[in-house]
Amino acid sequence: MGKVLVVTGGSRGIGRAVCLLAAERGWTLCLSYVANREAADAVVREIEAKGGRALAVRSDVAVEADIAALFEAADRLGPLGGLVNNAGVVDRAARVEDMTAERLTRMMTTNVVGSFLCAAQAVRRMSTKHGGQGGAIVNLSSVAARLGGPNQYVDYAASKGAIDTFTTGLALEVAAEGIRVNAVAPGLIDTDIHASGGQPDRMARLGPSTPIGRAGTAEEVAAPIVWLLSDEASYTTGTIVTVSGGR
Ligand code: NAP
Repeated sequence: MGKVLVVTGGSRGIGRAVCLLAAERGWTLCLSYVANREAADAVVREIEAKGGRALAVRSDVAVEADIAALFEAADRLGPLGGLVNNAGVVDRAARVEDMTAERLTRMMTTNVVGSFLCAAQAVRRMSTKHGGQGGAIVNLSSVAARLGGPNQYVDYAASKGAIDTFTTGLALEVAAEGIRVNAVAPGLIDTDIHASGGQPDRMARLGPSTPIGRAGTAEEVAAPIVWLLSDEASYTTGTIVTVSGGR
């Protein structure tokens, strides 16, 4: 079986699509979820039905002990070869003057601190400096980092700006240790995340305004992520691939 890939938030949306495609390419999947066990188990079953290997672990990226447990579970599957820092949240549309410390802390803890802590676990296992065999990390950014999310979610946009800088810095830090670190910045992608932010019609409303004329699919984001994880991307590190239909 292939090397182990940890995908945070692999139960739905982009993370799910990454798990299914990566399994087809030979990765053994260790995917996390936070609430939706049925969806996570369904991804595992779908992978196993095609002859792949996968494990779903309940692990909140906002809880450090959960992250440690996720990577310990991954260790039991074999040597770690990759991480996709996919789990992320949005919140209800709000202006900055109405954002509470509680909201901002949840946003930054989940989207930023969680990604740092998962990457730390991965680097400890994959870095040649620590006796590992190298690997690849892909972080989920967003075009919101560039657009700023005014009147909707400047907090979310700023969390993804932090992910961009994190990608650059970590990529340089571990480049000579066999680990490549890149990010993918999706635009409007048709997943549940918009409903979770109180805007279930967001794709139908905004999709046609993109230069390509429609929202993207989770599969269209998964493809470059799985490529960045692969040996075909062996000279690519520290970059941010925009997948936004020109937006
Ligand atoms: P989604 O459909 O809402 O799915 C979110 C996934 O993350 C689910 O598997 C969920 O697990 C998991 N999750 C949420 N909070 C978690 C936590 N605290 N700990 C662990 N897992 C958690 O989201 P998506 O649209 O696929 O987005 C995936 C990533 O792409 C995010 O980082 C997002 O910011 C980014 N992105 C998305 C878009 C877009 O338009 N969709 C655009 C730009 C960037 P459960 O199933 O258990 O709830």
